[in-house]
Amino acid sequence: MLEITNLSVNYGAIRALTNISLDVKTGEIVALIGSNGAGKTTTLNTISGIVPVAEGSISFKGRNITKTPPHQIAALGIAHVPEGRRVFPRMSVMENLEMGAFTRNDREGVRASFEEVFQRFPRLEERKNQLAATLSGGEQQMLAMGRALMAKPTLMLMDEPSMGLAPMLVEEIFNIIRAINQSGTTILLVEQNAHMALSIASRAFVLETGNIVLAGAASELAANPEVRRAYLGE
Ligand code: ATP
Repeated sequence: MLEITNLSVNYGAIRALTNISLDVKTGEIVALIGSNGAGKTTTLNTISGIVPVAEGSISFKGRNITKTPPHQIAALGIAHVPEGRRVFPRMSVMENLEMGAFTRNDREGVRASFEEVFQRFPRLEERKNQLAATLSGGEQQMLAMGRALMAKPTLMLMDEPSMGLAPMLVEEIFNIIRAINQSGTTILLVEQNAHMALSIASRAFVLETGNIVLAGAASELAANPEVRRAYLGE
């Protein structure tokens, strides 16, 4: 579904990604793990078209999107749940969700998506008229995920969904990610919580200072001594 080939990305004179290749197949959850500053967010922002590609290519469903602008990438079916949620604080929950459907004009379908999102996140329905700024961190994460679902994406890019959440909520968010995947959405998940990420992913890639240093089945990586030492706190 997603194919990244020999991708390099620079911020001015700083090279953030060096010749990385990774792929995500239809139906998978693929995890991208690595420490602070490794280039995980840059990878997602490059796929979304927010950060320009210096070298290499990105294709989605066989179509080259290397130079496609962000709004068109969204319209192709890639939704981004950004780091730090980035909900619109002065908009209500409903309005935030509506923003997620900006690429769609099938009113009936959008109405159905609202129903689906509220079914998945009953707490959002309870708070639908509340301003997003007044939600808790976990609720804002749910809103960011709900907003992405309103686009009816085939691929969801999730950046650190567990960041700053209490352990119980982390568990809940990961259960929801698994459920979203089981209902047919492919997921590329960036996480510092390698333990949780490897537990729900089928495959994973490890980034270190802009390079992919390891890749493989999530279960194999979870058993790899290097990964255990560097990312699983052993
Ligand atoms: P984190 O989990 O802290 O977000 P990350 O793995 O997502 O880390 P990136 O945010 O992608 O890493 O950063 C990769 C590298 O690019 C880092 O060295 C970072 O300092 C640098 N970088 C990121 N954004 C910019 C920017 N806008 N301008 C200059 N350098 C940047």
